[in-house]
Amino acid sequence: MHSLDEFATAKLDELERSSLRRRLVDTTRVTGIWVLREGRRLLSFCCNDYLNLTHHPAVKEAAIEALRRYGVGAGASRFVSGNHPLLSELEARLARLKETEAACVFGSGYLANVGIIPALIGPGDLILIDELAHACLWAGARLARAAVMPFRHGDVRHLDALLTDLRQRHGRALIATDGVFSMDGDIAPLRALGAIAQRHDAWLMSDDAHGLGVVGGGRGSNFVEQTKVPLQMGTLSKALGAYGGYLCASAAVVELIRNRARTVIYSTGLPPAMAAAAVAALEVIESEPDYAALPLAKAKAFASIAGLPEPASPIVPVLLGEPEAALKASTLLQEEGFLVVAIRPPTVPMGTARLRLTFTAQHPNREVERLAELVRKRILALAPANTTEAQ
Ligand SMILES: *Cc1c(COP(=O)(O)O)cnc(C)c1O
Repeated sequence: MHSLDEFATAKLDELERSSLRRRLVDTTRVTGIWVLREGRRLLSFCCNDYLNLTHHPAVKEAAIEALRRYGVGAGASRFVSGNHPLLSELEARLARLKETEAACVFGSGYLANVGIIPALIGPGDLILIDELAHACLWAGARLARAAVMPFRHGDVRHLDALLTDLRQRHGRALIATDGVFSMDGDIAPLRALGAIAQRHDAWLMSDDAHGLGVVGGGRGSNFVEQTKVPLQMGTLSKALGAYGGYLCASAAVVELIRNRARTVIYSTGLPPAMAAAAVAALEVIESEPDYAALPLAKAKAFASIAGLPEPASPIVPVLLGEPEAALKASTLLQEEGFLVVAIRPPTVPMGTARLRLTFTAQHPNREVERLAELVRKRILALAPANTTEAQ
């Protein structure tokens, strides 16, 4: 066997042995909540489509219309083939919603983070990052070639101590955190982080992929915390139901990002149809605040019946400890008609494998209740005692 294939096979065997191998399962989403998998209709609790806008008639229509008029792909980078006016419209709408001077869109949230951070921070600088921050914030941090120092999850004292110790030895400093944490659903203490950032002349950056559209009246986690965050990054791919990423910031910062972020300059622009869909989605969020409040309300109803702590976002983790327990729980729920994915390391730390449930606006209350009863009676029993205490 070729050494390349030998390497791949050995790695895969290793993953298999530790129950960490991932497999793609053919699944089609037939509505905002129902999926078809292996001939069965399942109610999905694993899409980040919080407002079910992937299937919203106005959002789909906007994308179809743009596709007909402007074609499928963008053709090249915005600086090469020209800037599509739909992108400027989308950026203006994002900035308005987030109350910043300007915004810049990217091909995805991941591309946003790996573009933004190295454009602002470089060798000799310092990045402080919440230990549970999303993989693409870490990727951006590593690409910056600065000193990267994790701080304990949500621990502002630890952050303060690290800055006191390290700040003077570095040039610029960035504090990076999720706004809503993707695997735990908790909200970062953005107000306290902002105060510390100010005290140490560091720049606060929040990744609000799971905040936009669902918390803070649809405007995101810094509106829950009622604080200004100078670098607000997020995605168009979750509550907005489309695809792409963004940064909302001051006019000067956005102009610098457009000039220096390599994932803006050297990557093809967002397809016009995605920009049109995102604009239509923002319209729904701005005009229907009651609708945007539904996912969190359903998550709270679920947690109350299941006997779990009250969630701060529509993401509810059910900690099960070992990967095997999480896989077993997922299979059990699938037999009952629910699609709930098992989340395993390295996505989450060792020993914290879990089910991660995401609640969306259109989940029927009756089904939410049935799922909660199942979790209370049959799923929590799969976790070792110490794991259940931790939640
Ligand atoms: C999903 C996610 C991203 C990546 O966004 P994409 O648009 O899917 O690339 C970034 N950050 C967080 C916290 C996420 O959950």
